[in-house]
Amino acid sequence: MRKKNTPKLKIKSLPRFLTFSAMSLILIVMIVMSLFFLTTKIAEIFNAQKQILQTSSSVNSSESTAPKSETVNVNNITNQNAKTNPPPQANDADPLADIKSRLRSGDTDGIKVVFLTFDDGPSENTGELLDMLNEYDAQGTFFTTLHDNDNAKAMYRRIVDEGHTLANHTSSHDYSLYNDPQAFFADVDLLDQFQKTITGQKETSHVFRFPGGSTNSNEACVQGIVNRGWNYSDWNVSSGDGCSEPPPSDVIAQMIIEGCRQHDVSVVLSHAELKASSRAAMPIVIETLQEEGYVFLAMEKDYTYPRHLEV
Ligand SMILES: [Zn+2]
Repeated sequence: MRKKNTPKLKIKSLPRFLTFSAMSLILIVMIVMSLFFLTTKIAEIFNAQKQILQTSSSVNSSESTAPKSETVNVNNITNQNAKTNPPPQANDADPLADIKSRLRSGDTDGIKVVFLTFDDGPSENTGELLDMLNEYDAQGTFFTTLHDNDNAKAMYRRIVDEGHTLANHTSSHDYSLYNDPQAFFADVDLLDQFQKTITGQKETSHVFRFPGGSTNSNEACVQGIVNRGWNYSDWNVSSGDGCSEPPPSDVIAQMIIEGCRQHDVSVVLSHAELKASSRAAMPIVIETLQEEGYVFLAMEKDYTYPRHLEV
């Protein structure tokens, strides 16, 4: 049986062997091709990754140099440019930092800054005025006296909470205290303590205005304010609303606008919390001057302000 079957088996096995060999060869070729394909792909991915890493590192290095050039050229950047090419982390930075730094150093040529100052409040109209300032994203400085009622207390807090400067204009606004410096400083300190208690601030702004301006005061009182490390400001633009019958709002607005155009840094005296006409003038003033590139800032202790009496 075996002898008879063996040749048959050999003849039948040959095509099987050939088929097996051919299939093995094809399999080996496929494996080799797959390996080659895989190796090429891995190499491509690796190269791509390398390029991405190189690109991002060059972007990082250009970003790290960007803020320097923007700080130098900040005055030449228009709002439109700033929108299309926002500097890195611009949202966190104070866009007015350069102007504030120039105010501190006294480098104010062509700076276009307006300090709106509101004296003798708070009053029942302070909220209306604060709403106006908010609407225009404008900051102001409130030289308050001491008003111990619920509305006034709420207004002292709003002034601080909304980014304006809460400044000191003495508690009583009593000119006779200039003759008694000790009593005068007690009056100043009473308001300082009151403002701290109401607002919860650890320190007040230490920005001061003498009732009636520094020329109504005297050297002893001015020297005392300077000695305690406070700053004081008079004004170089007046709204003309200090009299009992102030001019109409369009006249006041025009006076303020023309006055501000004469200075790089303007300090505007007004009693807009008390006088309806100067309050109504504020939107005209702010809109007109903002369109001309002026910014409305809150006072800080370290800036330089116009003073009528120096010591
Ligand atoms: Zn006053």
